[in-house]
Amino acid sequence: MPSVQIHPKERERLDSCSERFRPLAWRLYREINAMCATENCAPLVVYGFRSASEQLAIWAHGRELIGPGVDIMHSSSWRLTADPSDKILTRAFPGQSAHNSGDAVDIALVEGVGTTRHWIIDPGVPGDRWHRIVGAAAKRLGLKWGGEFSFFDGAHVQHPEWTLSLRNG
Ligand SMILES: [Zn+2]
Repeated sequence: MPSVQIHPKERERLDSCSERFRPLAWRLYREINAMCATENCAPLVVYGFRSASEQLAIWAHGRELIGPGVDIMHSSSWRLTADPSDKILTRAFPGQSAHNSGDAVDIALVEGVGTTRHWIIDPGVPGDRWHRIVGAAAKRLGLKWGGEFSFFDGAHVQHPEWTLSLRNG
């Protein structure tokens, strides 16, 4: 696919990243876009900074509150839903994701056009497009790639110095 024009929403998401990560996120996007020119896919910036309430909404997918009166801002107040088809989307509770401080970006690879457009379905194994494009570009820039997390996240790239600081409350 030839290089694509960035959508204003995607630009907004890249710009929402932290001061230290923003220039890296833009370089990453440009590299991925250039690499997609010779592959059958195109980049799509899905997330930059994510607020605590947005993170909670994603966390809640596949989970339910244990009971009435619990504090929804504690991860221990949640359990997995009984429906096995209702898969969780994240292991990160609000404050536990690099997105919550603007130190991460999700750049998905999409294929198809118009209504057939969808994320590539490459399985996340070495040699596939997630590895050849997003993983390779992240590594060249010295960034941490979600494709190497225990929970494969091929679109996720974060600042190498971001660390989880667990706080009380
Ligand atoms: Zn992410």
